Amino acid sequence: MATLGIPQNTIEILKKYNFVFQKKYGQNFLIDTHVLEKIIRAASIGSDDVVLEIGPGIGTLTQYLCENARKVIAVEIDDMLIPILGETLKEYDNVKIVHNDILKVDVNEIVSEYPGSSIKVVANLPYYITTPIIMGLFESGVPIDSITIMVQKEVAERMQAKPGTKDYGALTLAVQYYADAKIMANVPPNCFMPRPAVGSAVINLVKHKEKRYDVKNEDMLFRIIRASFNQRRKTLQNGLNNAANLPYTKQQIAEAIEKMGLPAAVRGEKLSLEQFVELSNILEE
Ligand code: SAM
Repeated sequence: MATLGIPQNTIEILKKYNFVFQKKYGQNFLIDTHVLEKIIRAASIGSDDVVLEIGPGIGTLTQYLCENARKVIAVEIDDMLIPILGETLKEYDNVKIVHNDILKVDVNEIVSEYPGSSIKVVANLPYYITTPIIMGLFESGVPIDSITIMVQKEVAERMQAKPGTKDYGALTLAVQYYADAKIMANVPPNCFMPRPAVGSAVINLVKHKEKRYDVKNEDMLFRIIRASFNQRRKTLQNGLNNAANLPYTKQQIAEAIEKMGLPAAVRGEKLSLEQFVELSNILEE
């Protein structure tokens, strides 16, 4: 039975193992049963699902996942947590702990034991590596169905943002290129031990089943997007002209913007993802 969401049980197990929180690993453990249940609902975990959990900690969310999913694979970096997980998860036979760094493991290999299954990723993420984890998973080609994660509130808002808003930027476009993003819950600091300095949110990223965009050169598309938001106050044209890693001339950039029917002084934040794709395809012609 999942028992760790109750703060007293978390305190007890931490004491028993003399556990010391490691700031460098972004350790903020969940101690709120309502939030844990919300994450399971947001991820729509069912008895056929294979789940990849990143950073199980002492196994709090893992217990809930084991109760609901077919199989849970949990990747944890901290040596100190491995014996604790051995105890807190001992009654579950559908969990596998991988003691490693999620940024170094070959996720394709980890999930290869379950051919034909699509994977749901669920995690209360270490906030210091949110973006590399998400982008790494999307770019890895792992058959992911959805990613449901706790992240910093501002980061969740950026992932879900619409063009022209203050939160809209390179992260919005990188995430929305692969998935539909929806914030499922806001979570205050008192739901964690220790309390983080910032507010958090659970966001659900449902990966597009088919590739939505026909892009001539994906690497260039993302370089263009980053260059457009590097200098937010500048026009799109200046942002692209000033980017050292873009091969286009001033004239090519001006002509591409004109061909799209956009004003010469348009800012990058006004362009939708479709328009960035169009711009990059024109420039790659
Ligand atoms: N899932 C637990 C919970 O909700 O209570 C713990 C969440 S805590 C925010 C983040 C977890 O990720 C910690 O257990 C931390 O040790 C682990 N972690 C940090 N960096 C990691 C990495 N590079 N690879 C795998 N796990 C990592």
